[in-house]
Amino acid sequence: MENSNHFGKVYLIGAGPGDPGLLTVRGKSILEKADVVVYDRLVSPGVLSLCNPKAKMVDVGKMPTHHKVKQSEINKLLVKFALEMPGATVARLKGGDPFVFGRGGEEALELVAAGVEFEVVPGVTSAIAVPAYAGIPVSHRGIATSFHIITGHEKSDERTLAGSLQTSDESVCYSERSNAESKNLSLDFETLAKCQGTLIFLMGIANMDFIARRLIECGKDPKTPLAFIEKGTTPNQRTVMATLETAGETIVRENVTAPAITIMGGVVELGKTLAWKKNLPLSGKRLVVTRAAKQSSGITARLTALGAEVIETPMIETRDLFPCCHAGLRSGIANSSENKVAEPVDFKSLANYNILAFTSTNGVESFFKQLFAAGYDVRVLAGKKIASVGKITEKKMLEYGIRCDYVPEDHTGEGLGLLLQKVVGDESRVLLLQGNLADDTLLKLLPKATRWTVYETLPVAELPDWKREAIASADAIVFASSSAVENFSRLSSVGQSPFSRLSFCIGCMTEASAKKHGFETVTSDETTMDSLVKKIVEYYTMGENA
Ligand code: SAH
Repeated sequence: MENSNHFGKVYLIGAGPGDPGLLTVRGKSILEKADVVVYDRLVSPGVLSLCNPKAKMVDVGKMPTHHKVKQSEINKLLVKFALEMPGATVARLKGGDPFVFGRGGEEALELVAAGVEFEVVPGVTSAIAVPAYAGIPVSHRGIATSFHIITGHEKSDERTLAGSLQTSDESVCYSERSNAESKNLSLDFETLAKCQGTLIFLMGIANMDFIARRLIECGKDPKTPLAFIEKGTTPNQRTVMATLETAGETIVRENVTAPAITIMGGVVELGKTLAWKKNLPLSGKRLVVTRAAKQSSGITARLTALGAEVIETPMIETRDLFPCCHAGLRSGIANSSENKVAEPVDFKSLANYNILAFTSTNGVESFFKQLFAAGYDVRVLAGKKIASVGKITEKKMLEYGIRCDYVPEDHTGEGLGLLLQKVVGDESRVLLLQGNLADDTLLKLLPKATRWTVYETLPVAELPDWKREAIASADAIVFASSSAVENFSRLSSVGQSPFSRLSFCIGCMTEASAKKHGFETVTSDETTMDSLVKKIVEYYTMGENA
């Protein structure tokens, strides 16, 4: 929580056009600590997965009833969150840039009227980035000295006038689109036809036949090159070239669907030479990776580099716990804590310790949360020495205004234990604040220390809606352990849902579990990630039944 104001603060954040790598550094840092994220239809799962996993995720692109939320309701919702959650970070996440046909200005006006503090985090607009990913520069010396971004869709409907939620409107079968809609377009075609610069239409697919005809009527060259770029910057990006006179028929023939932009002008020709985005072996495939985030980043990076869109769906999560002390551990018996009775602690007993040692950021956050909830504040730590396992945990402590006295050079539990051994000698006044799965390294090195368990790691209890939807349209699920199969099946109740039944498994135990749960399986030859990645590529490149 960044601000200590009376109200929450709203951030109007541009999510970029799809590729999560195009989210700004500022946008990412806010999403990582957001308490609420109010997001639109066009925000990609890759960007949503960067949000604080504990944030409340509100989809205003499509509600459970499949109705879009009206703009006026979104405005009210933002104000409501800010008023009801003092100090909270409320992220309003929009496709592309919030002020480019994103209605960000309207939302900001509403926030000003309500006295709510806000900040705008610009995004990479699809109008420029999508052509760039198709190798089309929007300006080019000698070809185009200006470019114009135009909405191809205006409607009296307050939500769709210039909203970023055009997908479903544009997905309407082309032949079924009514001309009535085109008549609502109040574009100045005379002026547009005279423009020498590049014309870029957003939300224009449904009306493009009409737009192209009007431009020709107003004198624009029917041979003007034009490109439709569909789902730009995502693994499903597609470029379809045409000319002004063939625009309408090309959309029908090639079944161009939203989201797509239309770019017109001489620069389009450059796309034939400059199209740099390669078709990779896994381009267009959406894969679900079920490992915990830290473990999965390796495989995620590799599958992404091969062109796949990866939905990381860890099957375990951490939860804050009121600190408890395991009976056997108070005296430092370094056995597994599993079968010991856990007793809730009394924060007053902090007085018994003169060194507090933290081994994870989760531990720090959870400890302070519970401490504050119990009515105490940081003054209870006055005079105590603080130890941390490494730099990240040390930084987290600083967020609470506390400097660490001891941090081992090597950032390991063992390093911390050895360092504290030197400091405390035979003293027993060390308190370890750890998770339920922490190993006994520290206790073995500091046998007189006490351990409080301040958070626990559990199987994920439920999937957020956006992830459920992303998984529902995935091509396959990647499993690296039987427990991941079990958890995933429980979470998604595969039997009754449209989730993909194809799975890539590592090892025969995982394969057996996946089969038991009704998955079709493709199993790696060896039980390594290398072998699994190789198998996935083979499967998709050598025919899907290889
Ligand atoms: N604020 C957004 C635009 C919102 S209007 C921005 O700055 O990009 C929504 C329109 O943007 C869509 O109808 C489509 O024309 C365009 N668009 C957004 N993302 C796109 C993508 N990944 N590929 C192609 N067009 C996209």
